[in-house]
Amino acid sequence: LFITIEGPDGAGKSSVVKRLVEAIQQTTDRPLVVTREPGGSEIAERIRAILLDPIHTNMDDRTEALLLAAGRRQHVVEKINPALQRGDIVLCDRFVDSSIAYQGQARGIGIKEVKDINEFAIEGLRPDLTIYLDVDAEVGLNRIKDKNSNRTQDRLELEEVAFHEEVRKGYLALIEAEPNRFVTVDAGQSEEQVFDDVWKIVRERL
Ligand code: C5P
Repeated sequence: LFITIEGPDGAGKSSVVKRLVEAIQQTTDRPLVVTREPGGSEIAERIRAILLDPIHTNMDDRTEALLLAAGRRQHVVEKINPALQRGDIVLCDRFVDSSIAYQGQARGIGIKEVKDINEFAIEGLRPDLTIYLDVDAEVGLNRIKDKNSNRTQDRLELEEVAFHEEVRKGYLALIEAEPNRFVTVDAGQSEEQVFDDVWKIVRERL
């Protein structure tokens, strides 16, 4: 069982993942592998560090997409596929859909282009279930800002809101294309309510 959690920044993925881990472990003895992207294996975590290092202001968008796909390849081969072959539950914070929404749609590389390089990386692997935490771009960004109060300046925020609106648009297009894989949860609700909604969906699949 391969479950991925997706959503724009500030949707609350990390807290949902944390609570899901506890709930799954209390419900089943089946081994659970919890992982994340970008990253998830030693090589992929090193690639993550390059991607998230603010010093790399000159990183080309396609370079970014290729590095994400390269890290994903290693993560799939080294960790996700072996776990699925053993019959473990795999819970992954972000997967290909993030690349399509962020790089394909928001950075403007193109959805098909980013799908294609990722297909090369994952060779047909698909999550059985993807939980999409849907949150308004501004609400999500404000949550992050509250955590990290002097992170951005006003002008940057406008660009960030526009970028995250595009990210959301990318996700919504993916959901339209593959409605059976996705379940959308309203992540504008309280943390408790969001988790309750997520848990109802996941519990059914265990
Ligand atoms: O999900 P997480 O907070 O770990 O993601 C780290 C950062 O990487 C976030 O700021 C997110 O916006 C960014 N990211 C990205 N493109 C992706 C995945 C994540 O820009 N495909």
